[in-house]
Amino acid sequence: MKIAVVGSGYVGLVSGACFAELGVDVTCVDVDRAKIEGLKEGVIPIYEPNLDVLITKNIRSGRLKFTTDIAECLDDVEIVFNAVGTPPKKDGSADLSYVYQVARAIGSSLNRYVLVVTKSTVPVGTAAKIKEIIAGELAERGLDIEFDVASNPEFLKEGDAIDDFMKPDRVVVGVDSDRATELMTKLYKPILLSNFRVIFMDILSAEMTKYAANAMLATRISFMNDIANLCELVGADVAMVRRGIGSDSRIGNKFLYAGCGYGGSCFPKDVRALAQTAGQYGYSMSVIEAVNMVNERQKNVLFEKFSDHYKGEIQGRKVAVWGLSFKPGTDDMREAPSLTLIESLLEAGCSVRVYDPVAMKEAERILGNRVDYADDIYDCVLDADAIFHVTEWKEFRFPNWEIIKKVVNIPLLIDGRNVYSSQDLVGIKYLCIGKRDEQ
Ligand code: NAD
Repeated sequence: MKIAVVGSGYVGLVSGACFAELGVDVTCVDVDRAKIEGLKEGVIPIYEPNLDVLITKNIRSGRLKFTTDIAECLDDVEIVFNAVGTPPKKDGSADLSYVYQVARAIGSSLNRYVLVVTKSTVPVGTAAKIKEIIAGELAERGLDIEFDVASNPEFLKEGDAIDDFMKPDRVVVGVDSDRATELMTKLYKPILLSNFRVIFMDILSAEMTKYAANAMLATRISFMNDIANLCELVGADVAMVRRGIGSDSRIGNKFLYAGCGYGGSCFPKDVRALAQTAGQYGYSMSVIEAVNMVNERQKNVLFEKFSDHYKGEIQGRKVAVWGLSFKPGTDDMREAPSLTLIESLLEAGCSVRVYDPVAMKEAERILGNRVDYADDIYDCVLDADAIFHVTEWKEFRFPNWEIIKKVVNIPLLIDGRNVYSSQDLVGIKYLCIGKRDEQ
């Protein structure tokens, strides 16, 4: 089977490499010439565990190719995946300009049947619009070529992307023709044979499923953050509450961790886009709007704890930030809570020294010379008046606290991920989320 995957970002590259690994001939397409030239040489533009191995292996086997020109492979493939970005617009709605560009490019070079599958996260109704655009392009060329559209939203998590793709909880496929169903069944046969679930449904429901899933996960996070903030006020401990409620099988124990807010390229934008879609239909999704609001507030919690601790006297203080990516296992800093914290610290006149095991290059791109970059966690905390633990990388788990106490100016640790405990931190002031400071 031959397919093309348009958009070689996190989703496109992982999907392309994984399909190739499953025996499919894949051409990955991107408009970014430098990215494609690099990929041909085996240079991977993102950090994702084991993706380099998978890409190199499949380039060698001849099953994975790269190009900047979609027209080059269109005559040769049965399925084209659209996996380009759908970044948020100012009003919170999804920017579909890249998705539509791809649809136009397909329509203007299509010569035979193809199934066009949207993998990007797109608002309900987008597949119909894509169909219209392709049909319009074909009509302009005076052609009447048969094609289908389908929706196959992606649920992979950065940091575990390959496993998520190869061993999915489920694959959701939205189709409206038998031919599309047959092609998608053929493509996902290896996944089906491994007993993973592929759920077929109509296209609108598939598009909605992706938003509903992300909104549900974001809701759990904001709900727990709200509970955590109340725990601090009343003197309860959110870790105990989490264990108490997570043991109820109707609730389950996953995604119940309080923290300093969710970030990344998906939850924030998808929650806002869902609310926008509702607005377009004259409906207000109050729960979803509150989820977003609680998250925006939560991203300031670490700064507020710091400022409260020093009774507002924070100008000129030196601080250390451990962890910059929006979660461990990735260098992605889009909408990361670390950025909200760092902006507040800089605005308050603090000097900020940062360290992240993989996101330093990305941080330099975003923050430039406004912060200092450390070589490791110990170098980061030199002379610090506070350490912020923002991303729960494994290498931050068991630092040598004796060294840290010696090199900081004031031993204050503000933990946005609740991974330490005050018992292990004798001589260090420890503030976390959802538990009142009783030291
Ligand atoms: P990304 O920004 O990492 O990659 C998008 C790529 O598309 C870029 O390389 C860009 O150069 C390319 N591109 C843009 N316009 C193009 C065009 N006209 N032709 C060819 N290439 C083009 O994005 P991503 O994180 O991979 O996300 C892609 C989509 O998948 C989004 O809708 C996102 O919401 C969704 N998604 C992302 C994740 C994730 O964890 N990143 C998970 C599930 C779903």
